[in-house]
Amino acid sequence: MTPVTEVSGTNRIRIDVDRELCIGSGDCVDSAPDVFQLDDEGKAVVVDPDGAPVDDIVDAARNCPVTAISVTGEEGEIYP
Ligand code: SF4
Repeated sequence: MTPVTEVSGTNRIRIDVDRELCIGSGDCVDSAPDVFQLDDEGKAVVVDPDGAPVDDIVDAARNCPVTAISVTGEEGEIYP
């Protein structure tokens, strides 16, 4: 297992958005607007990995139509 070096202060997670996959549907922003926003290119970016409870963030990742969001915790992959 690869050690996770950069995790957020509260949730202790790292969230990655695959910009190649993201189609800008905005579902993640609707689910967790304090965590995800769309940038100038209409792609999702993480504005605050501690902006919602981990379960809500995982739900947002699960709802992404193209599975562009991955969530990693200190113990390894949480989603997908
Ligand atoms: S839900 Fe997925 S495809 Fe839609 S904006 Fe978020 S990351 Fe992009």
